[in-house]
Amino acid sequence: MIQLIRGFKDILPDDIHQWQHIEQTARNLFESFGFTEIRPALLEKTDLFKRSIGEDTDIVGKEMYTFADRKGDSVTLRPEATASVVRSYIQHKMYAQDPVRKLYTIGPMFRRERPQKGRYRQFYQINAEAFGIESPLMDAQLIFMLVKLFEQLSIDDTTAHINSLGCPECRPGFKKILAGYLESKKEALCENCRSRMTRNPLRVLDCKVPSCRKALDAPPEMTSYLCGECDRHFTRVKTALNDYNIPFKLDKNLVRGLDYYSRTTFEIQTLSSGAQSAIAGGDRYDGLVEMLGGPPHPAGGFAIGFDRLVELFNQQPGAKVKGPDVFLAPLGETCEAMAGKWAAELSLSGIRTEIDFSGKSLKSLMKRANRLQAGHVLIAGEDEIENGSAILRNLHTKEQVDIPLADLSETIKMKIKL
Ligand code: AMP
Repeated sequence: MIQLIRGFKDILPDDIHQWQHIEQTARNLFESFGFTEIRPALLEKTDLFKRSIGEDTDIVGKEMYTFADRKGDSVTLRPEATASVVRSYIQHKMYAQDPVRKLYTIGPMFRRERPQKGRYRQFYQINAEAFGIESPLMDAQLIFMLVKLFEQLSIDDTTAHINSLGCPECRPGFKKILAGYLESKKEALCENCRSRMTRNPLRVLDCKVPSCRKALDAPPEMTSYLCGECDRHFTRVKTALNDYNIPFKLDKNLVRGLDYYSRTTFEIQTLSSGAQSAIAGGDRYDGLVEMLGGPPHPAGGFAIGFDRLVELFNQQPGAKVKGPDVFLAPLGETCEAMAGKWAAELSLSGIRTEIDFSGKSLKSLMKRANRLQAGHVLIAGEDEIENGSAILRNLHTKEQVDIPLADLSETIKMKIKL
């Protein structure tokens, strides 16, 4: 039998309810904040990611699914969404309609990382990107929206971590100072860090290798080297978060990986899965639109790890169960035909309905209804139909009542409190 590729997974029908619930919650929230959905292509020219994410990153260096298409052009399955959203924003001149544009997108990303719990090669992200807003209040609003999403999903135990990465004015000076510090720690650093410490010293701060983490005990901090503009920007982000009552932690080692980030960078971290891990990360990326051929528009956004969010959501009691509202159990052939029509009526009126046409005994139909975790069973035998009624049994309380067959969907909605 041909098996699934390592690191990939199917989202199965038993789990889909949580995915849909989270997705719907995010959509409702983002749309009420003025974001609209975009669904960019999944396959792009490889250069898009090389130019935006940076050749020196793990993603571009070793994780992308890149291949030559039949004409020999190098194409890549997107490893993240921002580059594609920006490409689309520029290509369709969205900035020409209104200088401000707020977009969100939900879908799969592909990175050939080492698979482990919570880390897949096809994984899903929920992304929001805001274009054309210079104000630090945008950064605070993005963080606010993220935190509210977790609140709405009852996922607590999360902390917002923030830092500033400066801008092309002040970062080069800091990079030099950092490179000097790293030179003094060179012996203790992993091979990868040694090779990138002069080219890209910031990325060393992000290294997850334990010996590197241990060696870098007191690295210089970007926030001490910010230029006046960046410093003011960051101060206003922090003030706004305080105004919004969003607790946050200043995390001076938070650098996050990609080349195009600038100024505010943030992560939502959780302790729920044991070790500290990030379920969402975001950044300003003021230079990216211009770098990819668009106008010099400021921008910023975030990406939520959807798979990890579902795993956290599933830790809540009762998160998984979502059987049908009503399970129709017709007894005998005549009843089956009538019940088929009622099932259609109930389904069309928004009641999640399952009907069993197997002709099996009531006992075995009840067994199946319980297995499906249905809320109620509607039992209709010949006697009931003759009397113009059916029996509605609540599978949780075991109570049952006779209900009239006229206005069936309205009556059921009332009884099951839909
Ligand atoms: P990034 O695009 O690397 O900033 O990641 C944003 C979020 O996506 C992270 O905080 C993770 O929750 C999630 N994520 C990143 N890589 C993976 C992966 N390989 N598998 C599952 N989730 C991931």
